[in-house]
Amino acid sequence: MADTAALLLKPGKERSLQRRHPWVYAGAVASVAGTPGNGELVAIRGSDRRFLAWAAYSPQSLIRARCWSYAEAERVDGAWLAARVRAAVARRAQLQETGDALRLVFGEADGLPGLVADRYGDTLVLQIHSAGIELHRELLIDALCAASGCATVFERSDAALREREGLPDSGGLLRGDKPAAAVPIREHGVHYLVDIRRGHKTGFYLDQRDSRQRLALAVRDFVRRHGRGPRVLNCFCYTGGFSLAAAQAGAQAVLSVDTSADALALGQRNAALNGLDPAQLQWRCADVFEELRALREGAAQFDFIVLDPPKFATNQHQIERAARAYKDINLSALRLLAPGGRLLSFSCSGAIEVDLFQKIVAGAVIDAGIDCHLLARLGAGADHPVLVTHPEGEYLKGLMLERI
Ligand code: SAH
Repeated sequence: MADTAALLLKPGKERSLQRRHPWVYAGAVASVAGTPGNGELVAIRGSDRRFLAWAAYSPQSLIRARCWSYAEAERVDGAWLAARVRAAVARRAQLQETGDALRLVFGEADGLPGLVADRYGDTLVLQIHSAGIELHRELLIDALCAASGCATVFERSDAALREREGLPDSGGLLRGDKPAAAVPIREHGVHYLVDIRRGHKTGFYLDQRDSRQRLALAVRDFVRRHGRGPRVLNCFCYTGGFSLAAAQAGAQAVLSVDTSADALALGQRNAALNGLDPAQLQWRCADVFEELRALREGAAQFDFIVLDPPKFATNQHQIERAARAYKDINLSALRLLAPGGRLLSFSCSGAIEVDLFQKIVAGAVIDAGIDCHLLARLGAGADHPVLVTHPEGEYLKGLMLERI
């Protein structure tokens, strides 16, 4: 493929690719040989013209190319892309046992940068965020349907991310019949309804599956040890992911807080779907920062508290402000934690690394004047694999603390 278009890198800019980081930034490119179109295959060559990788060209993006492969002998064509999809689905075969909602493709980690494919029962929900994936979208959708057995495909791409790639806004039904307003799924024995058309991201926070299960196991253990169900506070509850996991595991009372009335309404429907006693679950439409203070004034205490806020830092410049916000909610939550109680505290800000997050939470523990053990580090499940050479993929981090 000597006549394939190529991006020539500036001297010294080869290193990141040699370390198998899959992005080529615009600033690293010295020149473009040929006239590749949006998303088309290009060879990436070092300043000495040596082959480094095959990549998809994104002429309008700051990330100018995303790598498909580092092997010159590989033929990156339709069959190759379809094989990547099959490999991604096969990688998760065992996880199907935990339920019928799963991330089947997670971008870079599955060698398909810019593609997310989430399965909710028989429905696939896609996000297409790179020019390379866009160019091959039909072929990739065919491969996804064939590998997963799903017939309905819905797109929920983020318009802002597509715009950065020079791609027009796109979304809605791609294949099959219009999906129900709320698609039923099952996760570790809990039933949930997912609003794939209007819900957050692709409709559900699949990345918290393992941690919801962790909470359920800890709640069961609490019941065994204390002979009563724990009191649970779920902050930033969305549609009640953690709330239902806790309630079904035997929590005595679960208070769920979120500012989204729609999410809370779906949370209530989810509770009914699982046949839970409505008196067991309380749903409160409120700002968590304020609600935590109000609860303290009322001298409330909880045996389990979950803090799963939205992304407070979207880039490096927001780290300081975000750190203050994380500290604030963690301190307020720790003040409500009963002795022996547990806090599950998360950050999905990629810009905040796990060490910093742990320092922030430790600062809150000190200010709360209590002592805590770090019982476990938490994160996304195995359907969100992380390439060791692409740490950006590991955005979700969590800590499980126990008040001594
Ligand atoms: N833990 C959830 C996902 C949480 S996503 C799950 O397992 O499904 C973050 C949630 O925080 C969103 O539902 C959003 O509506 C809510 N939110 C954002 N800012 C908030 C605030 N200040 N107070 C309360 N909720 C907030």
